[in-house]
Amino acid sequence: MYRCASARRYMAFRRISPTPKQKNLLYYIYYLKKVSYIMKKYDYLIVGAGLFGAVFAHEARARQKTCLVIDKRPHIGGNIYTEEIEEIQVHKYGAHIFHTSNERVWHYINQFSRFNHYINSPVAIYKDELYNLPFNMNTFHQLWGVKTPAQAKAKIQEQIARMNIVHPKNLEEQALAMVGQDVYEKLVEGYTRKQWGRECRELPAFIIKRLPLRYTYDNNYFNDRYQGIPTDGYTKIVKKLLDGVQVCLNTDFFIERERWMNQADRVLFTGMIDQFYNYRFGELEYRSLRFENEVLDMGNYQGNAVVNYTDYEVPYTRIIEHKHFVFGSQKKTVITREYPAKWQRGEEPYYPINDPENNELFEKYQRLALAEKDVLFGGRLGMYRYMNMDQVIEEALLLADNELGCV
Ligand SMILES: Cc1cc2nc3c(=O)[nH]c(=O)nc-3n(C[C@H](O)[C@H](O)[C@H](O)COP(=O)(O)OP(=O)(O)OC[C@H]3O[C@@H](n4cnc5c(N)ncnc54)[C@H](O)[C@@H]3O)c2cc1C
Repeated sequence: MYRCASARRYMAFRRISPTPKQKNLLYYIYYLKKVSYIMKKYDYLIVGAGLFGAVFAHEARARQKTCLVIDKRPHIGGNIYTEEIEEIQVHKYGAHIFHTSNERVWHYINQFSRFNHYINSPVAIYKDELYNLPFNMNTFHQLWGVKTPAQAKAKIQEQIARMNIVHPKNLEEQALAMVGQDVYEKLVEGYTRKQWGRECRELPAFIIKRLPLRYTYDNNYFNDRYQGIPTDGYTKIVKKLLDGVQVCLNTDFFIERERWMNQADRVLFTGMIDQFYNYRFGELEYRSLRFENEVLDMGNYQGNAVVNYTDYEVPYTRIIEHKHFVFGSQKKTVITREYPAKWQRGEEPYYPINDPENNELFEKYQRLALAEKDVLFGGRLGMYRYMNMDQVIEEALLLADNELGCV
């Protein structure tokens, strides 16, 4: 319709009267567009302009498919959205560090941005003490003054043996059996209680499967081969992924569900799977977060991008100082305090609670999803699974390969 109208406008502007042949052609184009509008306009409707939706949209476009992306938020990017404040890229939904060992994913994401050499090395503050993370020789030296791996191992083994926990019944026992009393009390207990909103004794043991202890002086939080922060922020990556794709923001799928479903032959849904099915088997559970941003009139507030607060009395779990992700030297600084929060409908569902009950419930929804002919589910909410960004990209590329074939 657009091309037809512009051809007509062009002819009117040039005062050209269309010949009967041209008129017929114009009406033919108009008719075709109208028919396709009444039928289906797009090959894919993608609900969610987060990383999963954006990667899939990009891949679909590369295979000459037409896509319409809708998102209820006023911006693209979902939880990886970054916004410039005081010339600093602020991670609006919590610190996002890209790390992966997956070659395909690393090469893929590098098409859309340069990455710096940031290495995540958080520190923990417990009362007035400061410790390096993850638990490594620096931490052990700060805790006990030990200098060699043998001394650190002996100290930890002595504490574990004193506990004598053979079959851990809850998270507290599980953690004590893995790292001993000092690491648990100073660096695990308060943080975990805040994160889950429950006493560690009341939490299931499976939440903490591993608490890696590193017997080297290495503060690099991740073990992955590649790591870094996109130099211009994550939003630019998503913008490039969605280049040439039609995007409607501030648009909640559920407000006009039927209308949106009729816009395309197939739908990729990256919102909450239980909501898609109108909670027919019950509600899946999540943990939520609240972020408090502050601009400070100083160059450097805490000297590190991520500082965890591990004692229970401090209500937030960590403070992020965004400029340190990109080694910024601006006059001001922006910090974000991160408060764990109870989730209820209407709040942002950040972390799926993958305990056995919720997983069982999810499987019921998954059975419905697998029986769908024209609806696909993806992303952390559609698959009800916590995924890092690299896993999201890997899953979205896999879905694109299966659905659309290889390019
Ligand atoms: C606090 C926090 C820190 C993290 N840190 C890291 C990190 O350091 N490194 C890392 O690799 N990963 C990290 N992650 C994980 C990362 O955020 C996810 O992997 C990624 O954002 C998931 O992308 P997604 O597209 O699946 O979901 P989302 O980003 O949530 O995108 C889904 C989109 O769907 C939209 N939507 C939902 N329902 C509807 C609807 N009804 N109608 C229209 N639109 C809808 C939402 O608005 C959203 O924009 C972190 C996650 C959190 C919560």
